[in-house]
Formats: sequence, structure tokens, C-alpha cells
Amino acid sequence: MKILLLDDEPERIDRVSERLAGGGFEVVVVDGPQALEPAIVEHRPSLVVFGEGRFREYGALGAGRTQSATHHPVDTGKRFDAAEMARAIERGEFALVYQPIVSLETGGVSGFEALIRWHHPDRGLVGPDNFIPLAEESGLIIALGFFAVAEAARQIAAWRAIIHAERPLSVSVNLSTVQFIHPDLVEVLRETVLPYGLPPGTIRFEITESALMQDMEQANIALLKLKANGFPLYMDDFGTGYSSLSYLRHFPVDVLKIDKSFVRWMGVDEESDEIVRIIIHLAHTLRMKIVAEGVETPETLNKLRELGADYGQGYLFGKPLAPADAEALLRADPRW
Ligand code: C2E
Ligand code: MG
Ligand code: MG
Repeated sequence: MKILLLDDEPERIDRVSERLAGGGFEVVVVDGPQALEPAIVEHRPSLVVFGEGRFREYGALGAGRTQSATHHPVDTGKRFDAAEMARAIERGEFALVYQPIVSLETGGVSGFEALIRWHHPDRGLVGPDNFIPLAEESGLIIALGFFAVAEAARQIAAWRAIIHAERPLSVSVNLSTVQFIHPDLVEVLRETVLPYGLPPGTIRFEITESALMQDMEQANIALLKLKANGFPLYMDDFGTGYSSLSYLRHFPVDVLKIDKSFVRWMGVDEESDEIVRIIIHLAHTLRMKIVAEGVETPETLNKLRELGADYGQGYLFGKPLAPADAEALLRADPRW
């Protein structure tokens, strides 16, 4: 894994790069923020790290957080260990796939959700449910999470340059609770994304309700800072957690993603229809947009349009796609 290291203080940078090199990382040191952009193009790093202070903090933070493991039990049939995962990060075995998000108003692709995959040399393609819990438990989610943000920013910048410079195109990246509650989160995200010169609103973040509930005060500060820095916020899997009206009023969330467990049963089960109707109404009342997840049939799409949902995501429009396939979809520019 290639890491670009940025710092103004030479004596600190020596220590950090030595440690990273000892861990098997390929390190490229750049002088300061002004050197960043050409260096990114030249070296195509997997991760950009800013100075020793923050690097150390993230290491310590990861090691100290274990509670999320209890919420997502690891599939015992596919247990990995942290050392194996750390090696996989170094070897660049992780990659993003992109699932289209469709505007129900225009019927065209408005953006993508970036979803992480592990190209395991023996086990093939491994989905995130099999390794995110371990990544959170071990602290590796910090490296993995920032890889996802940097890679999504790089990819969307490339697509904008060749295809969609004139049309807004966005990508949303999932943030783990472990990342979300860290006080330096927004600064690091901003500095990771900044070199790509993307317009505000291009990179969005998805968090779940439980991430907000862990520490509501810290969460609110993070949300406000994200907003101030031009990062819209999606509330993921809405309806499966606390779904509390009071936090929706208090937190500056821009978009609610209705969980697929409701959307998939629309037209079959009246209760699901009613729940989706209420969530859309609730969101619009609070001036939030709606993404309906798990849209699998044309009937569901019609119903969602009737109910006034803003965006849809699901197998009807496309599965999570390898970058080349997502690019082909953008070029084809289909309408639903
Ligand atoms: P999510 O953020 O709710 O992502 C949506 C999941 O629903 C994806 O599963 C997607 O493949 C699946 N999906 C999309 N459309 C449909 C549909 O029409 N029907 C059905 N049945 N499923 C659909 P995936 O890719 O396995 O991701 C699972 C979860 O892993 C994600 O849920 C997210 O919470 C987490 N995750 C993925 N990438 C990252 C990442 O980079 N960082 C973090 N922290 N978490 C990630
Ligand atoms: Mg998501
Ligand atoms: Mg979701």
C-alpha cells in the first residue's frame, strides 16, 4: 500500500515514515499542502497521512474501540484475523464498487454509493459484512475508511474530468461509528478530499442511526462541521434503529435512506407501504431528501414515484458495479 505523507516538520516526518516503512508500507513524503496535488497524480497513493500527531491518535483510537463488535457478529464461517487484514490493506486487496443512485425526477443516474470489497487471494470476493466488524474491532477501519474516501474522491474526479464535468455527479461513502465519533474526523476528511478540487456536495457521507446515538453531542459537532465543509450527510438504513423524531429535528441530516427491508415489501405488504409513505412525508416536512434503498421491481419504482421519493437505489437500476462498468453506465446515460 502506497502512503503519501504530508508534514512541514522534517524531524517528525522521519520517525513516522520509518515506522510505516517498517510495517511494509511504501512511503512517499511530500513537503507541504502545496506539493500535494502533483504528488497525488504522480504517485497515486492509497492513503494520505497528515503528520505524526494525527497518525498516532488514529492508531490509539482504533485499538481502544471494541464495542461495535457486539452489534455486528462476525460470520463464524468466514473469520479473518487482523494481521491478515492488515497485510491485505498493504497489498491493495481492497477496492470499491459503485452502485447507481437514480433521480426519480429525471430518471437518470445522479451518483453512486461506494461500497468496499475485499479481493481475497484464496476466498475470492468478500463482502463488507464479513470484515467490517473485525476492521472496527481491530482499529483497521481507520485505514480502510480513509482509503475508501480517498479512492472515491479520486474516482469521481476522474469521471468528472472525462464524462460529467457539466453535470453534477456525487458519490456517497459509508462512515463507521468508530470514524464518526473521532474529533479530528472532519479535518482529515477535508484534507483527503481537498486535493481533488471537487465542488462542494460531491462527496457525501452515510452514517447509521446508531453512530449518532453513541455520543449525541460529539455527533452534532461532527455533523455541523461536515455541513460547513460542504459534505452532505445521509442517514443510512433509516427505520431499522431508533428512528427518533427528536434527533431528526436536532441533527442537520440532508437525506434519509429508507432501509430496504421496508422498500422491498412495498406493494405486497400494506404496512410497509404506509411506513414508507410516512417516512417520506416526515423527511419532506423536515426539508430532507429521500433515497429509497432496495428498489428491485418496476412496481416499487412506480409506487415510490407516486409517493414523491426523490431518489432510488437497488438492483432494478444496477448492482454495485466495478469502476469500468459504472463508467460504461455513465456513458450510456440510461433513463428509468
Ligand atoms: P449499506 O450502506 O446499507 O449498503 C447497501 C447494501 O445493500 C449493499 O450491500 C448493497 O449491495 C445492498 N443492496 C443494494 N441494492 C439492493 C437491492 O436492491 N436488494 C438487496 N437485497 N440488497 C441491495 P453491501 O455492499 O454488502 O454492503 C453492506 C454494508 O457494509 C453497507 O450497508 C455498509 O453498512 C457497509 N459498508 C460497505 N462499504 C463500506 C465502507 O467503505 N465503510 C464502512 N464503514 N462500511 C461499509
Ligand atoms: Mg450505505
Ligand atoms: Mg443502507
